[in-house]
Amino acid sequence: MSIVFEKIKAVLKAQWGYESFLPLQKEAIECVTKGRDSIVVMPTGGGKSLCFQAPGVAMPGMTVVVSPLISLMKDQVDALLECGVAARRLDSSMSPNEQSAVLRQIYHGDLKLLYVAPERLVTQKFIGLLKTTRLSFIAVDEAHCVSVWGHDFRPEYRELGVLKNAFPGIAVHAYTASATEHVRRDIALYLRLENPEVLVGSFDRPNLVYRVERRANMIEQVCKILDQHKGESGIIYCIRRADVDELCAQLTDKRYSVAPYHAGMDDDERRRNQEAFIEDKVATIVATIAFGMGIDKSNVRYVVHNGMPKSVEQYHQETGRAGRDGLEAECCLLYSGNDYRVWRRVLADMEPEAKAIALQKLNDMYDYCGGVTCRHKAVVGYFGQDLGKENCSACDVCLGRLDCVQNSLGTAQKILSCVVSLHQRFGADYTTSVLIGSREERIIQNGHDTLSTYALLSDCTRRVVRDWIEQLVAQRCLTKTDEYSILNLTEMGWRVLKGEEVPRLLKPSRVPARAPQVAADSWEGVDKGLFETLRKLRRRLAEEKNVPAFIVFDDAALRDMARRRPKTPEAFLEVRGVGEKKNERYGAEFIAVVKEYCAAEGIERDPSPISGTYSATSRPPGPTQNPTCGNVPHHERMSEIRSTHPHAYEAWSQEEEKRLREYVAQGRKISEIASLLGRQPSAIRARIRKTETGH
Ligand code: ADP
Repeated sequence: MSIVFEKIKAVLKAQWGYESFLPLQKEAIECVTKGRDSIVVMPTGGGKSLCFQAPGVAMPGMTVVVSPLISLMKDQVDALLECGVAARRLDSSMSPNEQSAVLRQIYHGDLKLLYVAPERLVTQKFIGLLKTTRLSFIAVDEAHCVSVWGHDFRPEYRELGVLKNAFPGIAVHAYTASATEHVRRDIALYLRLENPEVLVGSFDRPNLVYRVERRANMIEQVCKILDQHKGESGIIYCIRRADVDELCAQLTDKRYSVAPYHAGMDDDERRRNQEAFIEDKVATIVATIAFGMGIDKSNVRYVVHNGMPKSVEQYHQETGRAGRDGLEAECCLLYSGNDYRVWRRVLADMEPEAKAIALQKLNDMYDYCGGVTCRHKAVVGYFGQDLGKENCSACDVCLGRLDCVQNSLGTAQKILSCVVSLHQRFGADYTTSVLIGSREERIIQNGHDTLSTYALLSDCTRRVVRDWIEQLVAQRCLTKTDEYSILNLTEMGWRVLKGEEVPRLLKPSRVPARAPQVAADSWEGVDKGLFETLRKLRRRLAEEKNVPAFIVFDDAALRDMARRRPKTPEAFLEVRGVGEKKNERYGAEFIAVVKEYCAAEGIERDPSPISGTYSATSRPPGPTQNPTCGNVPHHERMSEIRSTHPHAYEAWSQEEEKRLREYVAQGRKISEIASLLGRQPSAIRARIRKTETGH
């Protein structure tokens, strides 16, 4: 391994507190050390920033990072400063004095990383200034902005092509989460990259738990998700601005902490809401697609789509904003056939060629919603990748949360025969009415109550039958005509009628089946009470410094702290995400809080080795690993907790109460009592409090 690479590894540990690389980071960093132009494609949360930040710190000279948004630059620079890196940004929101100070630092060679917007970087004046300093390399973040095929085209990105001429011999590295081949070609072309190495990471995000539900009682469905994530951050995406406003009003009425975000609001209000969300002052942001780019918030624990996105790319990108810290996060998509129609109307005015592409993408998205194969497999399959396993353990399909109808073939044949008996001249609603045997006037008048297919599914509700029709559309057994959404059988539909193909029809499940392993893994061994206490300390420190909480420490670091419960600065340095600067800056305060908490709760500190935990620097183990259940009550983990602690959530018997009193009188520790009684420490604490206070 080269000396530079060794230095980068040392920087990774000292500055960021990480000991290993995430997939593809090593290869991407090697391109930088070798000075070879590169295009690095990694999904959101894959760890792109470190690919240029770590070598930027370790290599001689200053690295210039091109970034499209001030908010993005600000977050990254704040985070770098927290890690003790000499980084600055230069943008139009800064005062002339602030800008001059940064220009002086550039001139004197005091900076390791400089963030600038593309329009500034390509000016002759700025290029002239950079020529007076030692430039290490240029990193172009969000590089898909050069392409009209990307989702955030910015004409000013195309100007960046001048850099290769202006700085001969200086490598340019492009980073993006955008997966398409077309975008990659455009990046190489417009940035004039020389024989770039192209690295494409896996598009799978194993820590995201995907779930798709038909939208039935939307507000109830949304509230249920919010209730499961009390005190956590999340995003709800809606298709239209009006939906954002309406949902926000309903949730505010129900006293949820929410704020809207869409292009129809004025800039100030939008900025205020975004900041409140980033600083954890508002739990949930309700937004249109306009929200997201430039949001680096690492602790988003859920993304709800209250409406189907218009493509799998969009879905992947928006859900990708959850769980950037590598911890489990839930992505729930609520959709209906109407979403499909809304998007079709939106796309109606496009140029024919672009419209055909957009429609194909829309159909793929709709198929994903109605699909019954592993969601992770479906998403990466869309991007031309193979998941490499059959069961992801992190989606509604693999977790057995989808209940398939016993006789899917027979039910599908009833529906398809009904469409045929109606001469393929009616839409889904009408067909449903016939199938359930409705006495609506229009059906009687048309004489359709005399069809042999009339009332074939009279034992089912309208919603269920309507849902099956949509599932058959998604599985390409039926199509809807452009204009009136009339149902037609496809070739596949005819094959199903003949019994040559078997579709899968789902009924909505009421019982949550297995819990996702990712959630259990990342909480393993973590004391939830301590985690909450540390969160409060983080909040206070972040407020004092006026930075978002996750910049002080992300959730993964806090969980590891609450798991390791360090006694000494050396032990604190072992915590994932703690580098030397953060140890110096915060170590003493966090160690003191850990000490106080552990003393009060009778919990051991530095319990090493911690059985089955993951290393200080790695991410939570993937779903293939199978450590034992931890001690954290979590809604998703109830069933697992119940199985390891058989009566963890059951009422207390008199016998147990008696044993509890005895143990307390004997002065035993909470953790000891918990294991003797097979209950959670928090349940023991609550019971003792209840016994003491009488309620
Ligand atoms: P991206 O820019 O690709 O969306 P980020 O650079 O924001 O991803 O990184 C996502 C998260 O992963 C951040 O919280 C970051 O601190 C963390 N991370 C990056 N590299 C590592 C690593 N080598 N080990 C552990 N965590 C890492």
